Amino acid sequence: MADLVLDRLTIAYGNVNAVDDISLTVPSGEFLTLLGPSGCGKSTTLFAISGLNEATSGTIRIGDKVFFDGARGIAVPPEARNIGLVFQSYALWPHKTVAENLSFPLELRKVGRAERDSRIKEGLELVEMGKYAERYPFELSGGQQQRVALARALVYRPRLLLLDEPLSNLDAKLRERARIWLRELQERLNVTTIYVTHDQSEALAVSDRIAVMSMGKIQQLGTPTDIYERP
Ligand code: ADP
Ligand code: ADP
Repeated sequence: MADLVLDRLTIAYGNVNAVDDISLTVPSGEFLTLLGPSGCGKSTTLFAISGLNEATSGTIRIGDKVFFDGARGIAVPPEARNIGLVFQSYALWPHKTVAENLSFPLELRKVGRAERDSRIKEGLELVEMGKYAERYPFELSGGQQQRVALARALVYRPRLLLLDEPLSNLDAKLRERARIWLRELQERLNVTTIYVTHDQSEALAVSDRIAVMSMGKIQQLGTPTDIYERP
């Protein structure tokens, strides 16, 4: 199984380095969290991995598959990266049912009808939302919408899952339950996951390892125990 490698990655907006020369290897199947205050470069890092914005220099690769290489001028478009992405706002299409929300991205990728139906069923079962296929987003609670958004990312069968504060719109109690459930699902699927949060307790609860970021740099990298025990 192939590791995700960020090598000397820099991402600039104008002449400001939002991400400043970071290097990080994420082993296949790991749940890694980028933890740090607002503005430290977490989302910018995720967006560059997904290909939604381009890095400035350095390399992003999974195994032998190069997504970005500033020196060689390689930038693979997001649709060729096989990545599932979930943001803070669930951004479900309001006028589509849950099943249609999952179906649409698969239609864009020319997945046939029968295959779509079976993946939608499988995706909704994974997030325990099998009974809600014909509902509309406004009929669901925040936690349920968040599950649907996750299912929509999973029906691609991504090799890499990027989660940007996916639980921050939930109330505190639901958030605690959701993070346990999310971690169990990630382990079951064994999908390499990068999780972004500014919430230390959340990071400590879910992660295999935590990269603590500050001003575009990784300041500390270690297991929750390593991070917690250091002053
Ligand atoms: P598997 O064991 O599932 O076949 P690996 O994780 O060993 O896959 O990766 C095998 C190769 O597949 C990698 O070297 C890389 O070229 C490619 N690959 C892995 N993840 C992705 C991805 N998210 N998008 C595109 N290609 C990928
Ligand atoms: P985080 O996700 O940790 O809150 P971001 O990655 O969103 O941080 O932002 C990192 C830095 O880059 C911040 O200083 C932010 O103001 C800046 N930034 C983010 N997006 C843009 C943009 N589109 N244009 C200019 N600056 C940006």
